[in-house]
Amino acid sequence: MRPIIPDYLAEALGDVEPDASGEPAAYIPELAAADPERLAAAFATVDGRVYGAGDVDVPFTIQSISKPFVYALALADRGFDPVLARVGVEPSGEAFNEISLESGSGRPLNPMINAGAITVHSLVGPERCAPADRVERVIRGLSAFAGRQLTVDRQVYASEMATAHRNLAIAHMLRSHDMLTEDARTVVEGYTEQCSVLVTTRDLALMAATLANRGVNPLSGETVVSETVVRQVLSVMFSCGMYDAAGDWATQVGIPAKSGVAGGLIGTLPGRIGIATFSPRLDRHGNSVRGVSLFERFSSDMGLHVMDVPSAGQAVVRSNHVLGSGTDALRVLELQGGIDFAGAERVVRAALETAPPEARVAVDLTRVHAIDDVARRMVLEVARRLTLDGQEVYLVDPETMLPDPDPGEGGRVTVVRTVEEAAPTPS
Ligand code: GLN
Repeated sequence: MRPIIPDYLAEALGDVEPDASGEPAAYIPELAAADPERLAAAFATVDGRVYGAGDVDVPFTIQSISKPFVYALALADRGFDPVLARVGVEPSGEAFNEISLESGSGRPLNPMINAGAITVHSLVGPERCAPADRVERVIRGLSAFAGRQLTVDRQVYASEMATAHRNLAIAHMLRSHDMLTEDARTVVEGYTEQCSVLVTTRDLALMAATLANRGVNPLSGETVVSETVVRQVLSVMFSCGMYDAAGDWATQVGIPAKSGVAGGLIGTLPGRIGIATFSPRLDRHGNSVRGVSLFERFSSDMGLHVMDVPSAGQAVVRSNHVLGSGTDALRVLELQGGIDFAGAERVVRAALETAPPEARVAVDLTRVHAIDDVARRMVLEVARRLTLDGQEVYLVDPETMLPDPDPGEGGRVTVVRTVEEAAPTPS
């Protein structure tokens, strides 16, 4: 059989290829010289499968796509409060290199614009970290996200530093507000090295998949950052990742994303996949023209908008029926799928609001493949209240979805492996 997903990706690349609008970034001379025809797209699943088409193994500099990952490293190294004290989480609605700081405090609005990212760079590693050690930590951290050792493109670095007047101006302003506490130029040098790290489209897809996979790299299995850090990073990517195009992006594409001026673009579907594209010509916001078109297409073709309502979510109660009759009758609530708060609410309704008259109730988890913490607590509370109402409660749980079920004060459950163990024997 021909491979379905690479074929789909190749077809999508073919559709956007004729679009030669936009220009490669010109303010970094070395980027202006890049081959504008390069084009690639890759998907990486949370279990480490990578599908790609086009120039997926061609290296280019990560640029601003480093920002969410280095934000993650700073949050992991310093904790939330010290980082939030220096960099906000509000969309700026301005260009990535705008010289804008919150009035009064001088705090950069978010970590995705340069002012925020330069400050975030200075917050990686332990306090009073030597600049070279910090860059080392950044490269090691980005490498852990990618699952392989990454290196810096010295030529792009030198080229950007030679014309880094704007970032130096931003850093000096940050220094004057004490948002930076170190030498402004040294921090810009470190930040520029961070932006000059070489990646391929395949690497970026895996980095995005590491965020999709709660911070665990799908290939190496390494936990790079915690789930709480990932949630913070994805939230900020969603509201601020596309700069002054963030609102259009959130509505039309609806995937937390980040672009870079070398032409890379990543998107993360939490729990599902990491996506990356590469095409150097940029629109007026500094986002890759063909990359944006590809993401628009992926989102609508595959229903990837994070605000799309999942279709299967509500069918948690597969059936609600009675086995046997009389005093022995057993009410069976057969559940299925993954159960979260909304699913557990259906269980609560089925079990309590309809107040089954039978003296014995079985909650059958045989077809449940996942149950999150709030749902677990709600199901156990259902069991407790049924017990308090004088009912006998069985949990049919052959795969131990609810280990050591303790319904708390006054509750009791009997765990069985099959409904038959609890069902009345036919007379
Ligand atoms: N290194 C670039 C800069 O600071 C990154 C900008 C970007 O990719 N949007 O200007």
